[in-house]
Amino acid sequence: MKTSASRDAYPPSWYAASAAPLPPQPALQGDLDADVCILGAGYTGLTAALELAEAGHRVVVLEAQRIGWGASGRNGGQVLAGFGCEQDALEALVGAQDARRLFDLSREGIARLRARIERHAIACDWRDGHASVPLKPRQVQALQRWQAHMAQAYDYPMQWWSRDQLRAQLASDRYLGAVYDPHSGHLHPLEYAFGLARAALAAGVRIFEHSAVVELAREPRPRLKTAQGQVRADFAVLAGNAWLRGVAPELESRIMPVGTYIAATAPLGQARARELIRNDMAVADVNWALDYFRLGRDHRLLFGGRASYSSLPPPDLRGVMARRMRRVFPQLAEVPIEYLWGGYVDISLNRAPHWGRLTPSVYFAQGFSGHGVAAAGLAGRLIAEAIGGQSARFDAFARIPHAPFPGGRALRTPLLVAAMAWFKLRDALW
Ligand SMILES: Cc1cc2nc3c(=O)[nH]c(=O)nc-3n(C[C@H](O)[C@H](O)[C@H](O)COP(=O)(O)OP(=O)(O)OC[C@H]3O[C@@H](n4cnc5c(N)ncnc54)[C@H](O)[C@@H]3O)c2cc1C
Repeated sequence: MKTSASRDAYPPSWYAASAAPLPPQPALQGDLDADVCILGAGYTGLTAALELAEAGHRVVVLEAQRIGWGASGRNGGQVLAGFGCEQDALEALVGAQDARRLFDLSREGIARLRARIERHAIACDWRDGHASVPLKPRQVQALQRWQAHMAQAYDYPMQWWSRDQLRAQLASDRYLGAVYDPHSGHLHPLEYAFGLARAALAAGVRIFEHSAVVELAREPRPRLKTAQGQVRADFAVLAGNAWLRGVAPELESRIMPVGTYIAATAPLGQARARELIRNDMAVADVNWALDYFRLGRDHRLLFGGRASYSSLPPPDLRGVMARRMRRVFPQLAEVPIEYLWGGYVDISLNRAPHWGRLTPSVYFAQGFSGHGVAAAGLAGRLIAEAIGGQSARFDAFARIPHAPFPGGRALRTPLLVAAMAWFKLRDALW
């Protein structure tokens, strides 16, 4: 297993090992003035920066680590319509009309992501197709109800595949069928983040790495302070996801960082890899503590799963991931894991996106709840629109109600662990 970071401070992922490197950006020194200052160089911050710069704004991005160092450079690469919560949960939160509007925006998020890939010639291995796969009869019924509801209320047709139809594409006996979504897909996450950064830099955005924001002064023109400088701007955008650490406590109390992990096998060879997933789709099961997987371009399996609620990786992570992978693909028993890494997803209590304003000039977007590859770019786009004076679409998200995690920052972890233990038990029993 490769355990040392292959690119400076990036986690030791296959992504960091395989992406064409991006030249390091300087750290902020001294004072700057900008139209918009963005905290965080993940998809949310980079997309907002690119869109704002293209609209003529002077934009500065402050990144604590490296570009794409957070979830945007580590994720499962599955580009999905919708959000971390189901649409019926959104209907209960904001009503059927707004829920439809938000879902349509999520589709626009995928369309815009694909348009950005094309426009900026981002080589990030886009592939079509995603299957949601059930393990239990109750999950078959729930998926079929979901598929029917999405077709009828959201005009979003997906295909139901029987067990045999799925088996023709996926060499695993573990699943009872699939809902196949041809509009979703997958990509190389870090290459997409780097591509956004290159486009933003070319559009005039100034990105500073190793420049953690340590304080946000909420003045009419907000100031974002780092250890060696500060940026004053007309608007600030907080796009720090699960890593904010004290800059805006009221945001942090509304999300819970949950660790999730990905293993990359050694390359399998083209024929063997294609034998596993013949149509090259991405796959995710529908358990609470889900398994998700797809192939990488050099014909290895990228297999994600295993949630954890501590800041430390779970004990024997490598063995756990190998066992999970072999439950799905016993034929890979002798294939070694070459890369193993993890990251935090920012779960909100209702798993709906948490986007809004702290003051009229401080925007934020978080709470992607493990469903942010397309949605974070949408957040960046809608924040840019709102700063440009068109806020109706952003405000449709800002109206979603969110509560802090019970117990506050100190107690949220034990309470969540208890809740997750229940969901895992439910996965196991029903
Ligand atoms: C292992 C894993 C698998 C996932 N799989 C999928 C998937 O398959 N499909 C899907 O849709 N979603 C997935 N997600 C979620 C998705 O990756 C995220 O929702 C999305 O990348 C969030 O983007 P972001 O820009 O908001 O945050 P991030 O990419 O996390 O970026 C936030 C950035 O802000 C910086 N930052 C934080 N605080 C400060 C500060 N004080 N000062 C300066 N900078 C700061 C961080 O260093 C970081 O680089 C996954 C996430 C993980 C971790």
